[in-house]
Amino acid sequence: MSTPLIETKPWPIHLLFWYEKHKRSFPWRENTSCDLHTRVFHTWICEIMSQQTLISVVLPKFEKFIATLAHVHALAHCSEDTLRQLWSGLGYYARARNLQKGAQYILEKHKGLFPSTMKEWLLVPGCGPYTASIIASVCFNEAVGAVDGNVIRVVSRLLNLQHGVWEKSGQEKIQQFVNRFIPDDNPGDFNQAMMDLGATVCKKQNPTCEICPLNTVCLAFQKNTVSLCPPVKPRRQMIDENLYALVFYNDQKKYLVIKRGKGFLSKTTGFPLLKETDTDALSTLHTTAKSHNWQVSVLPSAVQHTITHHKINARAMLIQCPNSFFDSKNVFFKNLPHDQLVWVEKSALKENLSSSLDQKVKNLLS
Ligand code: SF4
Repeated sequence: MSTPLIETKPWPIHLLFWYEKHKRSFPWRENTSCDLHTRVFHTWICEIMSQQTLISVVLPKFEKFIATLAHVHALAHCSEDTLRQLWSGLGYYARARNLQKGAQYILEKHKGLFPSTMKEWLLVPGCGPYTASIIASVCFNEAVGAVDGNVIRVVSRLLNLQHGVWEKSGQEKIQQFVNRFIPDDNPGDFNQAMMDLGATVCKKQNPTCEICPLNTVCLAFQKNTVSLCPPVKPRRQMIDENLYALVFYNDQKKYLVIKRGKGFLSKTTGFPLLKETDTDALSTLHTTAKSHNWQVSVLPSAVQHTITHHKINARAMLIQCPNSFFDSKNVFFKNLPHDQLVWVEKSALKENLSSSLDQKVKNLLS
């Protein structure tokens, strides 16, 4: 059996030539005149922002973020309000929290100097193998392959992988392939070239193989199996969650908003949430309501919301709660996972609700 051309041809060189001419222009790639510390900071921020968020959404947010928080010290010490504002619109706020934890870790463990190897970056909170390898290769020339969704697609097609790509062994095979061919003298450009090729030429739908710099070595192209590679990714099973959003309001038409503690939607602010299956908490709520004469009703409409693999169906439970009967030390509130309770005017609800789920619930209120 003959050796596939991908093993013998110098395709990384063709890829790098192509990248030189066709690379995408991003602010974090145009900062070569900045000092190394700034370049690392920009690369780190943009990579965390780009995970699960479209690049067109990231671009204006990135500019504002680095204009406000120009270095790792500023990020480590900024207030949660500032961080939340800078992150709004990007989604998955946990990434911002981890970014700040990462900055604090770098101050504490590295005296504010960025680590230079993939191994060290893997210890920074919020950094997985992809982020660690892209920073190490682009900023410190470490020859480690960065494998994201685009690269998985390109390699699957280059090797004509029609099965097993999403399994652990398939992912390892792709990582080993990239690590084997990444050039020692230009690893950062190689990684970025693979990603750009996946994003602009070897696209999921309608790849433009005729202009691809790798079409002479691509097995799937030669065998006419491009549409079969990679195989469809198995969907993670969705979990249905039925919740009540508890909308407490008092005599002055103020609404109760909590800052959530650990657990579901942690560190967001919004209405207290209770699972419909949490019968103990619901029973305590009803007992408390009865003993204080709170008026309780449930709105007929519900809102639907999806967070990662949770499919949420939330109904608003309105609870009229006279001021004189509200007691945050009450067993019901003591058991709610929260860090803080505040009453806000209806007109100020929008800016005090930090998750889209809470905003949807607010829209149910007349
Ligand atoms: Fe992708 Fe087509 Fe290029 Fe193969 S030839 S890497 S399928 S764009």
